[in-house]
Amino acid sequence: MHGGTGDNCDAVILGGGLAGLTAGYLLCQARRSVALIERQASVGGLARTVETKGFRFDLGGHRFITCDATLDAFVRDLLAGEYLEVDRSSRILLGNNWFHYPLRPLNALSGFGVSTAVKILCDYATERAKACIHSTPPVSLEDWVVRHYGRRLFLLYFKDYSEKVWGIDCRNIATEWIEQRVQGLSLGVAIVNAIMPRFGAARSTLATRFLYPPLGIGQIAERLRQGMHATSRVLNNTTVVRLDHAADRIRQVTVRNGDQTSILSGENYVSTIPLQSLITALQPRPPASVLAAASRLRSRDLVVVAVMLDRPRVTEHTWIYLPESKIPFGRVHEPTNWSPQMAPAGKTLLVAEYFCFRGDTIWNRTTSEATRLTVDGLERLGLIDKRDVLNSVVLRIPNAYPLFEVGFKQHCEHIQDYLDQFDNLHVAGRGGTFSYYNMDHAMRSGMDIAAGLSARAALWQTTEVGPVDKMAQLG
Ligand SMILES: Cc1cc2nc3c(=O)[nH]c(=O)nc-3n(C[C@H](O)[C@H](O)[C@H](O)COP(=O)(O)OP(=O)(O)OC[C@H]3O[C@@H](n4cnc5c(N)ncnc54)[C@H](O)[C@@H]3O)c2cc1C
Repeated sequence: MHGGTGDNCDAVILGGGLAGLTAGYLLCQARRSVALIERQASVGGLARTVETKGFRFDLGGHRFITCDATLDAFVRDLLAGEYLEVDRSSRILLGNNWFHYPLRPLNALSGFGVSTAVKILCDYATERAKACIHSTPPVSLEDWVVRHYGRRLFLLYFKDYSEKVWGIDCRNIATEWIEQRVQGLSLGVAIVNAIMPRFGAARSTLATRFLYPPLGIGQIAERLRQGMHATSRVLNNTTVVRLDHAADRIRQVTVRNGDQTSILSGENYVSTIPLQSLITALQPRPPASVLAAASRLRSRDLVVVAVMLDRPRVTEHTWIYLPESKIPFGRVHEPTNWSPQMAPAGKTLLVAEYFCFRGDTIWNRTTSEATRLTVDGLERLGLIDKRDVLNSVVLRIPNAYPLFEVGFKQHCEHIQDYLDQFDNLHVAGRGGTFSYYNMDHAMRSGMDIAAGLSARAALWQTTEVGPVDKMAQLG
């Protein structure tokens, strides 16, 4: 069925994650008319919070932290003081040892043993000496880590965790991933920091406190959505299927809601949907080389299993990292340690993250199979007793992480060169730009686009630190 052509608005925004919402919110505040199209029933994208029978959880715990002072003020203002300052308490389980994260020197020494710690140091010193005479830049994660931290630390920690997160050999993971903000790397940096504090890099990911809304990270998206009322339409359950262009401009977008198809048009188009989806939606089709480049960009997907428990608390930690391949999930978090309002009184929940590709065994497991695997795993780790399990929710999240395979950058550049021809198309966000953005980067990219489209929206433009600017330079 055809729903006809929508009114022309100032901006059509594709995707209702934080990047699209921030752009939409600021444009609405500047009295611009906006149509925002979101495939899911709710907004927030990767940064949404799911609620079921009084239990709440993010799609993998989301902490808000930023070096961008303007953005920080924007988020605090948006939440109108309704946020918690949470102390980070993380643990890494490695070889039957629980390590503090950030690591503490004594904990590291007792966990690794003095002789391993000494070998790590010797390896590190050797590689640093070799680095002075290396002239070729490292190409892969393996090259980079061995060169910076030594092979022993690479084998001890980086290899298993990186391959678990990314699902490919470390020799095929591009170094650009390291140059951006990398959670996995920071674990390794934490190890180096603990054993050799003078050499380890200080990073914001090692910060010990973060901002968190009491009802979950999705509150940020909800506030942005609420601020969009006056001049906007937010179309949920609606998928972008086609973008028509002519004479270097996007002319209209075709969207589908169930069996209803409709057409919307606007002066400008802000795309935050995955870059690959944008390229395949364009009509006339982009040149074959651009389609080929887009098809080579892969994303890592995620299965999240939340297990609700009839007990007040399991741990006192915000995150538990599980790098070893013998444990099927890579990370666990307990939302009640982020905010007590994430579960009914006297109850708690654990949320396990499985990094995977669509079509992997875990992706195709039924809810009861995925629950059983998770509950067994958590019980084997000594965290829970099966008898306490009340309920579970299994979610499959496509395009959770852009996968930085060696060579991806050239594909991105080729695609960007092609997209540059469109005067009224602006890409933003994590999947939209195929960048390893955190929430603050995603929001900042939405802000920058809004500022480019409206002087009033530029109010929040004063970038004091601008990590996104830096990331943009990295491409
Ligand atoms: C497990 C995990 C943990 C994370 N933890 C943190 C953290 O602690 N701190 C932090 O700062 N960041 C964290 N992040 C990163 C953060 O989630 C993202 O940077 C941010 O949410 C990206 O927002 P976005 O709007 O760019 O993209 P998205 O959230 O991906 O939004 C894109 C939107 O487009 C929609 N869409 C896709 N295709 C279509 C289509 N064809 N039609 C219509 N709509 C479509 C999607 O449904 C989605 O809502 C984490 C990410 C993951 C996966």
